[in-house]
Amino acid sequence: MAGEPQADCLFCKIAAGEVPATVVRETGTTIAFRDINPQAPTHILVIPKAHYENAAELATQPQLLADVLREAGEVAAEDKVDTTGYRIVFNTGRGAGQTVFHAHAHVMGGRGLQWPPG
Ligand code: IMP
Repeated sequence: MAGEPQADCLFCKIAAGEVPATVVRETGTTIAFRDINPQAPTHILVIPKAHYENAAELATQPQLLADVLREAGEVAAEDKVDTTGYRIVFNTGRGAGQTVFHAHAHVMGGRGLQWPPG
């Protein structure tokens, strides 16, 4: 059920501290950690601690979505990519590359980013 921890969800386990991650920021509602397979010098994932499958489902909780986006900006600033530019990406659905079905914002920067993305 949306908002409830899922036993088989990797990011629920990271949020609960059951799986280690390189955490860069944490709030009451969110946690941000470095991607295990970074695609840019800065590649940080910001997740809501509560389980929502994707960005659209997360958007049913506007305050929580705002928390995630605010934290995306904070980690970008802490990694000093806010001045050069960075990208916030929510892959949504398998066809778009989503592999973990717990909503997460990829925050990517520190190199030139192509448009349109592949
Ligand atoms: P998605 O493909 O948009 O769903 O993004 C999932 C991301 O999670 C990928 O970029 C993976 O590299 C990343 N990832 C998978 N497992 C871990 C982990 O244990 N720690 C940190 N990042 C992970």
